[in-house]
Amino acid sequence: MDNNAAQKIRLIMELRRQGIQDTDVLSALERVPREEFIPPTFKDRAYENIALPIASGQTISQPFIVAYMTEQLRPESRRKVLEVGTGSGYQAAVLSHLCRRVYSMERYRSLQVEAVKLFERLKLMNITTKLGDGYRGWKEQAPFDRIIVTAAAPEIPPVLVDQMNEGGIMILPVGPEPSDQAIMRVTKDATGHVTEEELMPVRFVPLVQGLAVET
Ligand code: SAH
Repeated sequence: MDNNAAQKIRLIMELRRQGIQDTDVLSALERVPREEFIPPTFKDRAYENIALPIASGQTISQPFIVAYMTEQLRPESRRKVLEVGTGSGYQAAVLSHLCRRVYSMERYRSLQVEAVKLFERLKLMNITTKLGDGYRGWKEQAPFDRIIVTAAAPEIPPVLVDQMNEGGIMILPVGPEPSDQAIMRVTKDATGHVTEEELMPVRFVPLVQGLAVET
């Protein structure tokens, strides 16, 4: 067994110990080669349970946070998901094994372009990406059964709530500053009534409105 495979098994066991129970979520994480989503200097740390830097000053989340948010999202094979914050593409790749279709938005063109190349190389055909401000959602593809946001907004973006289907779930970090953020669950019931719950304290890069200016 190669080194990565052994480290990957150790990581999956650690995620189980940390309380991740959904076996579909755990096997989706097992199927995605995290080393492909990480800059060359950090590749040997791909299966440590830590966040790592990616290009454009962003981060790929800690595997536990990816697993936790994915589990809370309750992905199902018939579901259509919106992800805000493509970043490395790792979270989208995990979701692509669990949902019918993944729509992922990123405000840095360079990150979006790299993620698309990777999805092609890994033959993840059910992911569609777009360069755009995820704070405004993806009107042409709405409504969504599930929405996951991987950057923290100061408040729950109202447009994203509008773009949720009845019976929909949105998982997102919310908070005014890095030291004061929580993962929240927003649900919309069959009558359109919206409920918000705080799940867990967390630290994410900020959700920034507008496209990134790249040099
Ligand atoms: N899901 C990513 C995590 C990347 S970090 C992964 O698995 O690697 C969060 C990402 O959100 C960053 O790439 C950042 O540029 C992006 N982001 C921040 N604000 C955004 C916005 N308003 N619209 C789209 N993407 C945004």
